[in-house]
Amino acid sequence: MEFIELSTDCYYFKSAVNIGYIVNNDKSKGMLIDAGLDSSAAKKVIKQLHSEKLPLTHLFITHAHADHFGGAFYIQQNVDVHTIAPALEEAIMRNPILEPIYLSQGNFPLKEMRNKFLEAPSIRVDELCSEGSLESFSEVQTIHLPGHSYNQHGILFGGTLYAADAFLGKDVLQKHKIPFIVDTSKNIETLEKLKEIDVEGMVPGHGNYVTEYKDVIQDNILIQESITSEVHNIINHSGGSGISFENIVAAMLTKYEVEPTNLGAYSLFRTAISAHVNQLLEQKSAVYKITGGIPVIFSAAYKA
Ligand SMILES: [Zn+2]
Repeated sequence: MEFIELSTDCYYFKSAVNIGYIVNNDKSKGMLIDAGLDSSAAKKVIKQLHSEKLPLTHLFITHAHADHFGGAFYIQQNVDVHTIAPALEEAIMRNPILEPIYLSQGNFPLKEMRNKFLEAPSIRVDELCSEGSLESFSEVQTIHLPGHSYNQHGILFGGTLYAADAFLGKDVLQKHKIPFIVDTSKNIETLEKLKEIDVEGMVPGHGNYVTEYKDVIQDNILIQESITSEVHNIINHSGGSGISFENIVAAMLTKYEVEPTNLGAYSLFRTAISAHVNQLLEQKSAVYKITGGIPVIFSAAYKA
C-alpha cells in the first residue's frame, strides 16, 4: 500500500481498494475517505499517518460495500474518529448483513455469502450526509454519486475529487467486464455529472489517480451503454418466446466470458445485469410476462 501525496493536503493510499486522506489548513483535522477491506489495511493506514505525524479525526465512508468499510471497525476501535456516511448507506453500515441479504434477493443469506467481501463488521455512524457540506468538516464538499450504490457520495477537496466507485480506473475497467451497478440510468447521470466537474484530478475507488478523467469517464459510459445494448440484443433475439432473467444473465456471462465460481460472485453479476434489464423495462423497450411461473422478458415489439 503506497501513500501518495497528490497536492497540498490531498493524499491517497493506493491499493486494490484506494483510501483517500485529506487534512485541513492548520492540520487540526484529518479525514480518511473509506477504510479498505479489513483490519490489516486499516492498521497500515493508521501506522503511516502516525509516522508522518498527520492527524486522524474524521472517517468518511462513501458507500456501504464491504471492501470500502471493512477496515472501519478497527479504526473506530483504535482511534477516536468522528464517522460520517450518506443516509441509507449508513443503515447498511450499522446492519451489514443487509448487503448479503439484498444480494440473496431478500432471503436470509447462505453462510458462504457471509464473508468479508460481502459483509463487513458493523460500525457506528456519527453524522449523516447528503450533497453539500459537512457539519463537522466544512472545508469539504460532498457530491451525490448514485448508480453503483444507492446513495454513494464522493468528497471534493482542494482540487481533488474522491469519486469512490462512481467510475473505474482505465486499468481495472477491462478486468471487471460487467462493472457492478444497481441503477443504470442513475449511473449514467452520475458519470455525465462527473465529466462536468472541473478539478485537477480524481481518485477512483479502484484504479489510479487520474488527471485526464474525462476520457476515463467517457470509457465507463461507453462500456455501460454497450452492456445495455447487449442485453437489449439478447432480448430482441429471443423473439416471440421471450427469455427469462436467468437466461439473460447466462447469455451475458457467456458473451463476456465471465465464470463466477460461487453464488457470491454470481449475485454481483446478476445484480449488475438486472440493472440493465430494469432500465429496458422502465424505458418500455422491453416488457415482461409471467408464464408458467417464470418472469419472461420480451422485446417491446412483441407486446400483445
Ligand atoms: Zn463499491
